[in-house]
Amino acid sequence: MAVSGIPFLEGRYSPTLDLWPIEAKEFNRIHTFYDSLREGRFTTTRCKQCGRVLYPPRVICPECYSDELEWIELPKRGKVIAVVEKLGGVPICFEVPVIDAWIDLGEGSPLRHILSRVINCPPQSLKEGDEVQLVVFDVPSHPMEIRRETIIAERVFFAFEPVKK
Ligand SMILES: [Zn+2]
Repeated sequence: MAVSGIPFLEGRYSPTLDLWPIEAKEFNRIHTFYDSLREGRFTTTRCKQCGRVLYPPRVICPECYSDELEWIELPKRGKVIAVVEKLGGVPICFEVPVIDAWIDLGEGSPLRHILSRVINCPPQSLKEGDEVQLVVFDVPSHPMEIRRETIIAERVFFAFEPVKK
């Protein structure tokens, strides 16, 4: 089974070179975020005590230290505010440029702005005001051992992509 996607590892798995989170519920207390992504939903947590919206999702509120958090939906579309295209120093096996954008999720959103990677986008084409939408993609999974049992941690991650005009 090809598990790493990193050619020089020849299929072996290296946790230190794995850039993606382990999403299985046995290892990750925000696994609900990834479960929602699999259903095409974009979510984060909000503190029930002080109301602060926490992104990325947390298990404890950094404002009031409450662990009473609830899951809320975020918009899956937004408008680009600023773009950065990274040509060097990108993670191993990422194609350059790696495009990141500040995205305005709109006035009605519980969280106004996020920083996200933008994919499916030719270099130097993304600009301020462009509309982008959530895109969920598969990430290579790998076997994990817990209590002498091997589980396959299926994984997804997200980025945004330009909305076709
Ligand atoms: Zn709080």
